[in-house]
Amino acid sequence: MNQKPRIVVVGSANTDLLFMSQTVPRGGETIFGTGFDMGFGGKGANQAVAASLCGAQVQMIGAVGGDMFGAATVANFQSMGVGTSLVRVIPDASTGAALILVEPNGENRIVVVKGANDLVRPADVDAAAAQIAEADLVLLQFEIPLETVYRTIEVAKAHQVRCMVNPAPALPVDLARLAAADYLILNETEAEAITGCQVRSPADREACLEKLLASGFQRVVLTLGAKGSMLAARAGRVHAPPFPVTAVDTTGAGDAFIGSLATFLTEGLAEQEAVTRANLYAALSATRTGTQKSFARRAEFEAELARRRTTPQRR
Ligand code: ADP
Repeated sequence: MNQKPRIVVVGSANTDLLFMSQTVPRGGETIFGTGFDMGFGGKGANQAVAASLCGAQVQMIGAVGGDMFGAATVANFQSMGVGTSLVRVIPDASTGAALILVEPNGENRIVVVKGANDLVRPADVDAAAAQIAEADLVLLQFEIPLETVYRTIEVAKAHQVRCMVNPAPALPVDLARLAAADYLILNETEAEAITGCQVRSPADREACLEKLLASGFQRVVLTLGAKGSMLAARAGRVHAPPFPVTAVDTTGAGDAFIGSLATFLTEGLAEQEAVTRANLYAALSATRTGTQKSFARRAEFEAELARRRTTPQRR
């Protein structure tokens, strides 16, 4: 393909504030921490950045507050090549933010304030209908109001644009209103929450996939962590094996997988090859700390793909 594929992400953007400390404070107590880090997050933003670094032309539809995190979020998108003309700045709102307290044993305590993400409305999608109509694929998650997710699917389908939904975090959902999406992509925890089925064994997994396909989805992609991923359609299932890596931080692996899969599919790769490549893109992200910071650029990904294909299964 000569032209870059065009992907629109309708979703969230957060600022992650990580505080490392030996203990967590009790009510009324103030303690000194041992470290601090800041990162750009939110599933929508992460997937947009992964798709962009992977080579797509990405446009974000979302909202940030009028605070300094909003300006920093927009600047980060721009530095990652993500279009921001449809990111609304809402002066009276706060930018989505996550306070993440990390203890030495790795235990996390997280408070998320949705802020402006909760103000991404169906009207924002209607206003962007022309850009959606020109896209090759629209990507959605559940960190914005569900009504906006449903509306986006309607608009995308009205223009015959492919649509991919990542139901994360899992919420009680009207599956019938999602089923027009071309791809449902979820991990095992989300699959359990959405179907109410346990996913502990291959037989459980099969029953869960069957239930999702029976709800009307044409394609379901189930990510299986270190076990790779599974592409399910009525015609059958394909397991895409994982690429072995020394994982140091799997935060954001799912977002890396989804953003890269969207790019590979819109480049016209066959589904099985696209899912296999997304496994590698996500596995690479697990070899580095951080979320967006751990996502590879396309050239680096291609070099690793070539290396793995000539010497299979080497870490
Ligand atoms: P999430 O991050 O949403 O929990 P998963 O844990 O299923 O999602 O990971 C998403 C994808 O990342 C997997 O399908 C796989 O391709 C890749 N991945 C995750 N963990 C590993 C790992 N330890 N080794 C290799 N690949 C991994």
